Amino acid sequence: MSTFNSADIAAFKDVWVFCEQREGKLMPTDFELISKGRDLANELGVNLCGLLLGGEGIEAAAKELGGYGADKVYVCESPMLSVYNTDAYAKVICDVIEELKPEAFLIGATNIGRDLAPRCAARLHTGLCADCTHLDIDVANYIQFLREASTLDVDGQKWDMEDRNLKMTRPAFGGHLMATIVCPDYRPQMSTVRPGVMQTQAFDEAKSQQTVLEKIDVQLTKDDIHVDLVEIKKSAKKLVDLIGADVVVAVGRGISSNPTRGIEIAEELANVLGGVVGASRAVVDAGWIGVDHQVGQTGKTVHPKIYVALGISGAIQHLAGMQDSECIISVNKNGSAPIFDASTYGITGDLFKVGPMLAEAIKGFREGKK
Ligand code: FAD
Repeated sequence: MSTFNSADIAAFKDVWVFCEQREGKLMPTDFELISKGRDLANELGVNLCGLLLGGEGIEAAAKELGGYGADKVYVCESPMLSVYNTDAYAKVICDVIEELKPEAFLIGATNIGRDLAPRCAARLHTGLCADCTHLDIDVANYIQFLREASTLDVDGQKWDMEDRNLKMTRPAFGGHLMATIVCPDYRPQMSTVRPGVMQTQAFDEAKSQQTVLEKIDVQLTKDDIHVDLVEIKKSAKKLVDLIGADVVVAVGRGISSNPTRGIEIAEELANVLGGVVGASRAVVDAGWIGVDHQVGQTGKTVHPKIYVALGISGAIQHLAGMQDSECIISVNKNGSAPIFDASTYGITGDLFKVGPMLAEAIKGFREGKK
């Protein structure tokens, strides 16, 4: 009989990250969450642990997580875990959490994470804050975040500087508000985190070699699984990898006089720069491009080396998804468009003329260098 009691807060310790793998390969979200988890664990003065489930041999992938900051990785290996299955994964994760009791448990808000996290939270009788875009432990850091990112009267509030709850911030009411949610009465504090939001720290080979791996004895039988996996059919459509791209060339409603040509221009520019095409929500809502291209608060969060904005005004919801790009180059007919305030370089002009000129110039520069 388990002695697990999610209200016995003092019994919980350490920050954990669920490390998702597909076909034995770790996901970029794992490294983002491990990097963020490292900061949180440091603020709490506890260990950061990865939890990796997979088929036989998955242990080989675990050390990489140490290179991004994990002190330890719990490895659950079973042929029944090689492909994601909600019943199997939820059972094993809840068993391990009931046994080892982490105080915070982060999961990527991927399709798998969104399926898994609420089931685990309900079984463990704790709370879950879904789709977070910001996490804090330290109150001083949280206050600084509010100063920079909100209009709240931070100095007019009373703060408990000793508070060690995880402060989980996410868009609410369709993105019109940001809400910070805490789970003070139950553990673990669970959060799914939007992919692409947290910065991945530099990989450290020496730390990766020092990672402690602990194999967990998996208790799983066929009776625990209520769904038979008959076949996996991969989508024929290749989804655009906006989050991992070094260069994003995004188009906005400025292409409206000729959307087909506007997207073609973006594709040409993206090709010469070795990047992918993104879009504002206006372009997606108009049906000119698929939703997987959308950048922004209700789309994807990107931080490429170069972000080119063609005919995008710079609404706050768009900026929320791209303002951390290293270099932002904007082309807009309107010289006072807000996008220019967030840009490294701004070009006042017609994207239908400037876009092809940029592509030609870059091509010419590259050929001249050969
Ligand atoms: P507009 O604001 O219409 O801007 C078009 C720009 O193109 C203008 O600045 C114009 O000067 C310029 N232009 C026109 N013709 C040319 C030309 N020939 N050459 C150069 N420039 C030209 N938006 C997102 O992008 N992502 C989101 O995730 C998102 N989430 C949202 C969530 C909520 C809850 C809400 C309320 C809104 C959200 N929005 C989002 C919408 C957002 O508020 C803006 O409406 C949207 O970003 C505007 O897109 P845009 O800049 O392409 O269009």
